[in-house]
Amino acid sequence: MARPTMAPLRIGIPLLLGLLLAVARVPPSVASDPNTFAKPNWDMYNSYDNTMQRVADMVARNPKTMRMRTVTASSIEGSYKARMPLVVVEPGGLSSGTVPADKLRVFYNFGEHGREIITTELALRVLEMLESVETLTTRIKFHEKFHEIIAQYYKTVFYIVPVENEGGRHKVEAGELCERKNGRGVDTNRNWELDWGVKERDYDPSEEYPGNFPYSEPEAFVLHAELAAFKPHVWVNVHSGMEALFMPYDHKREIPSGSDASQLYHMLEMLNRWHCKSKCAVGSGGKEVGYRAHGTATDTIYTQLGVPMVMTWEVYGVTSAHYDDCFRMFNPTDRHAFDELLDRWGQAFFAVLPLASSHNGVQSQMQRDRVVPTSAFYERSDAVLQVTRTVEPKVQTGSSTEGGNHQAVYRLRGDPTPSYTKLPSYLGSHNFHQTFRNMPPTRIQPKRQEEEDIAHRDDALGRRGGGARMRVAHAFDHLQLQTVAVWAMGTFAIGTMLTSRRSSGPKRRVG
Ligand SMILES: [Zn+2]
Repeated sequence: MARPTMAPLRIGIPLLLGLLLAVARVPPSVASDPNTFAKPNWDMYNSYDNTMQRVADMVARNPKTMRMRTVTASSIEGSYKARMPLVVVEPGGLSSGTVPADKLRVFYNFGEHGREIITTELALRVLEMLESVETLTTRIKFHEKFHEIIAQYYKTVFYIVPVENEGGRHKVEAGELCERKNGRGVDTNRNWELDWGVKERDYDPSEEYPGNFPYSEPEAFVLHAELAAFKPHVWVNVHSGMEALFMPYDHKREIPSGSDASQLYHMLEMLNRWHCKSKCAVGSGGKEVGYRAHGTATDTIYTQLGVPMVMTWEVYGVTSAHYDDCFRMFNPTDRHAFDELLDRWGQAFFAVLPLASSHNGVQSQMQRDRVVPTSAFYERSDAVLQVTRTVEPKVQTGSSTEGGNHQAVYRLRGDPTPSYTKLPSYLGSHNFHQTFRNMPPTRIQPKRQEEEDIAHRDDALGRRGGGARMRVAHAFDHLQLQTVAVWAMGTFAIGTMLTSRRSSGPKRRVG
């Protein structure tokens, strides 16, 4: 949030008042000379290429605890491509098959908006702290939750996206310092399904154009697919532009009802004290940020994927900066502020661990996971199988479950096309493995009709319809599993909505 909202005054504003507001938009103390606008110091910040090199080096140094995949995906018409690095870190040692059900799963997402490049520096800091427990210990030694953090650290799987939006990031590095959206002008944090396409009166397409339909953008599509497979207990979407700790909802001015949500709210207040000098706005994004946002990752992940702890952290902002002085608005420009921010917020990603393990919603999900793991890999000499739970089972006694759904992806080694099969809900993971072991290779042979793939994907996501589709190629470093995911849209494929009434002063969006 960069500007005070002026929406209440928009109707029938007298000319004089309008002029006054136009002047008030830019306080006189703020420099408006473009020559004085801040530029990134590339000795302090890492370029995209540097960042990727550092991440790759870190992963290569730690094969027992870190793994990286780079997912590439293209839009339905094939004209736009995106590439996303995904790093998995398990300080207790990488699981080769199913992630143990008693491990906490956290998903940290950085670099969703091009101009917020400080967030990717924070991703590097978190990865450095994950590289060795000595580094972590040094960095958090004065934290009041130190012992709880270290205890939980070994029982956690971290899923980290250092740069979600490579396309937007390249534009920023080429000098378009105000670019927020992806490589083709879509805000990927408005491209999710829940409440997609709803426009507020102050909707500004140059800041938050949501795309032609939900998941039209490969960045959002890939994240959705990864989240559906990983099923995190905690999701943190990291942004800059102000200082805030947000939880759902973004599209309403309220937090969800229920004790799990109020527990999360109190945890945000703790994080505010520990890591934001009690300066952060805390609460629902839709209320605290000053505008409502529709089709956001946070609201979709909370409402549709059922992730119990969903947060958006805004780690820095100079809200008084000139509208066009974007680098200053979103990123620290001096070394002291830069280092202090990384130190303070870097710790916050670890302070989350003991909070999460005591969250009631997380605990009950873990209980369900003990019955049926959320995702598992099985291998045999000629084929691999990935089973992903797509619908929560109702917890039953013993090892049997009822009411859950699973998606299984089989692939013969050497064949890039997988075969999708919906498995009966009553099977436990042990049964998947048994079935797979005894399955004749002809059954694993891919079905070549694309419609069938769409139908299976629809089943898995509980939707109907057909039309847009997108292919995603995964390169699993250890399994070389090739997955082709197909997304089908029903009646959502609507034309562009670039027309808008822009009636109040322009505001830079943050989350
Ligand atoms: Zn942002």
